[in-house]
Amino acid sequence: MSIDIISKIKEAGLLGKSGSNFPVWIKWDSVKKADALKKYVIANAAEGEPEVFKDGFILNNYPKEVVLGIKAALNCIEKSSGYIYLRKDYYNKFKYTLNKLIKGADIKLFKKTGGYLSGEETVLLNIIEGRLSEPRIKPPYPTESGLFGYPSLINNVETFYRVSKVLKGEYKDNRFYSISGDVNNRGVFEFKTDLNISQILKESNNFPDFDFFVQAGGGISGEILLPSELGRPLKGTGGIIIYNRKRTNPASLIVKKLKFLMNENCDKCVPCREGIYRIFEMVKNNDIDKDKLNEIVFALEETSLCGLGKCSVVSIKGFFNKLL
Ligand code: SF4
Repeated sequence: MSIDIISKIKEAGLLGKSGSNFPVWIKWDSVKKADALKKYVIANAAEGEPEVFKDGFILNNYPKEVVLGIKAALNCIEKSSGYIYLRKDYYNKFKYTLNKLIKGADIKLFKKTGGYLSGEETVLLNIIEGRLSEPRIKPPYPTESGLFGYPSLINNVETFYRVSKVLKGEYKDNRFYSISGDVNNRGVFEFKTDLNISQILKESNNFPDFDFFVQAGGGISGEILLPSELGRPLKGTGGIIIYNRKRTNPASLIVKKLKFLMNENCDKCVPCREGIYRIFEMVKNNDIDKDKLNEIVFALEETSLCGLGKCSVVSIKGFFNKLL
C-alpha cells in the first residue's frame, strides 16, 4: 500500500499546493525512507496569505477527503503521528467536523497562534513545539529534522485533498483559485492548472470591463500584473486580486502592504527588518531613490532568512516598475 501510494502520486505528477510547486512524492519518499524512531505528518491549514481562502473552502466542503489524504500519509509512513495545524478561525469553525473524522486515528488538531509568518513550515514547527514564532535556518529541511527533531512531512490542505483524489482514482491536474477584489463573482473556483490568468478570470466570469491590474499568486507575495501580462499560468498560492485602476492609489496600496509586512515579520534578520522599513519611508515621504531602492531589494532577495523577506520583493518590484 505504502509504496503504491507514493508511486501513484508520482505518476499523477502531483505538485504541492502551498505555492512551492514541489513534487509531493519526493517529500513523502524522503520522510518514509528516513531512519528515525518517530516521524510526523502535518497538514498545514494556516492559510495566512491575505485574500487567499481556498483551504477554508476545501475544509468546509471536502473535510473527509482531506482527512483521507492525511490518513494515507500516516499509513504510508511507519511510526508517524499526525497534526492538523489550523489558523484560529478555521479551528473554531471546523473542529467539530474534523474531530469526528479523526476519531480513532493518531491525529491531533492544533490551533495556530500568531499571524502571517506562522504558516511558514519551520515557524509552524517552532509553534507546535512551544518555541518562539520565528523561522529556522534550512537545511536541515523538515523532511530530515522537523517536529521535535524528527523527520516530518508537511503538506498543505489542498495537497492532502488531491492525494485523496489519487487514492480514489479520480485525480485530475486541477487546482483551486481564490478570486477577489473589484469583481462581481468573488469566490473559489476549480480549474485545470494549465489555464492562464486571463482564462481563469474569463472562466470564472470575473474578467473586468474596466482598466485594471491584478496581484496574482497571493495578496502579499504575489506578482503585480497588467492586463497585457495575463497570458501566463498562475504561480504561488492560487489567489488573484483585481484592482480597478481608477479607484486604486498605488502608493497607498503599497504602503498598506509594507505596513502589513513590517507588522508580520519576526525582526530576526536585518535585510527584512530594516529593508522593508526603509522602502516604506521612501514611499511615505514620496522620496524614492532608485539606486538605494535597488540595493535594498537586492539585499532582501538574496539575504533574507526566510520566504517573507525574499518573496516581498516580487510585489515591491511590480509596484515600482509598473504602477508608481
Ligand atoms: S526574512 Fe523577515 S520574517 Fe523571515 S526571518 Fe528575516 S525578519 Fe524574520
